[in-house]
Amino acid sequence: MLPDSRVEPLLSDPPERPEEACGVFGVYAPGEDVARLTYFGLHALQHRGQESAGIAVGDGETVTVTKNHGLVSRVFKESDLDSLTGDVAIGHTRYSTTGSSTSWENAQPHLSTIGRQVIALAHNGNLVNTRELREELRGRGIRFRSTTDSEVIATLIGAFTQQHHHIRDGIRETMKLISGAYAVVLVTEEALYAFRDPHGVRPLVLGTLPDDAGWVVASETCALDIVGARYLRDVAPGETLKISANGLEAQQAVPAEKQSLCMFEFVYFARPDSEMFDCSLYEARRRMGEALAREAGVEADLVIGVPDSGVPAAVGFAQGSGIPFGEGLAKNRYVGRTFISPSQMLRQQGIRLKLNPLKHAIAGKRLVVVDDSIVRGNTTKKIVALLREAGAAEVHMRITSPPVVWPCFYGIDTDTQEQLIASSHSVEEIREHIGADSLAYLSLDGMVAATGQSKDQFCLACFDGEYPIEIPQSVREGKLALESCT
Ligand code: SF4
Repeated sequence: MLPDSRVEPLLSDPPERPEEACGVFGVYAPGEDVARLTYFGLHALQHRGQESAGIAVGDGETVTVTKNHGLVSRVFKESDLDSLTGDVAIGHTRYSTTGSSTSWENAQPHLSTIGRQVIALAHNGNLVNTRELREELRGRGIRFRSTTDSEVIATLIGAFTQQHHHIRDGIRETMKLISGAYAVVLVTEEALYAFRDPHGVRPLVLGTLPDDAGWVVASETCALDIVGARYLRDVAPGETLKISANGLEAQQAVPAEKQSLCMFEFVYFARPDSEMFDCSLYEARRRMGEALAREAGVEADLVIGVPDSGVPAAVGFAQGSGIPFGEGLAKNRYVGRTFISPSQMLRQQGIRLKLNPLKHAIAGKRLVVVDDSIVRGNTTKKIVALLREAGAAEVHMRITSPPVVWPCFYGIDTDTQEQLIASSHSVEEIREHIGADSLAYLSLDGMVAATGQSKDQFCLACFDGEYPIEIPQSVREGKLALESCT
């Protein structure tokens, strides 16, 4: 039996694509408007999470946080930024699983105290041993205000810092205990800290502001670009950075393990104008399309991409196949995760709230439609139906990643295995479900080759089931029993 093929209301659908869980940003720049720099950094990271946003600023005496639900532009007013003065700041944009987004406490940065000292922490990723750690901490009388694993990290750092007297030691001891994917920024009244898990699953980069005005850390290089910072290097797996009046102090807090950057950063999550492993994401996606044309060519009149992430790969497919590239779907960029429910009449419009076909461009044409992934299959099905309604003669779906067969435990919302259509259906069954004339996926080797890196640099678990960080059985059995961070 194929999954239920009802056309669901768009805005109440569970996310069809894997959803990223958060973007983080930090800046140390005495004399600069660090809150505004963070605000613009968060704008550049808005694609990584749209449910809440927050900024914490250290002013030499304490740390102040402003955070709320909604897009960055909605959360902060001019007056909020004016009141957030200081030399050092962090920021966070959050995506969360349904339900948890309603809790203000789950928005980040997470504020806590170590004795009299105030700290704020923001986290991208997901721990796999949150449950044990929470239980142990609860057993010691600790009460939690949120359901995020970020609070667990902050609590551990607090406890270890009290024992060892320095935050950097507190972070190091915490890193020895926590397991999973994490890229974290932390601010005190006078310093910025950043640290990354030993496998480097989630990205974190370091840059410098012009004229030595300060330092910036961010999930992606596009957030350095927007504030005029120059990329210096990645924060290394297992490394901690402290940036203060003493400058940059780096320490390998725990030994680095095999690098396992999330492959979906290359396929979909990161912005095309970001770079990872010295490689332009746009260029990698274009090469994925080229490889797909070589591996799964088809006779057609026009190549279109599903906006936004499918477009660079569609350009590559066109270049690789000689079939012209064109725009076939216009995207309404601003409807996304709105907090306003559409009326019943609008709900019936379904996918049209997000994508509208360019009828004149596609009517009567045999189309190659390039997209980055198929998770549950329902959105792809709607897109195929939309294109047929608009007069497409044939629809050939080409996907720039292999079938997603395994769920993610490291902070990406790909749900349970049963909900992944490729876990229980052949490519031909999926083609039938989505109603395409043909369907082909890029091979794992083809996808990795397009990044210019070798396979062993990546986490590929959702394609091959080989999880680089061990997943406790309890977590495997009840994926997301606790709300995952972030
Ligand atoms: S399991 Fe998939 S989505 Fe999760 S980190 Fe690995 S590659 Fe990324």
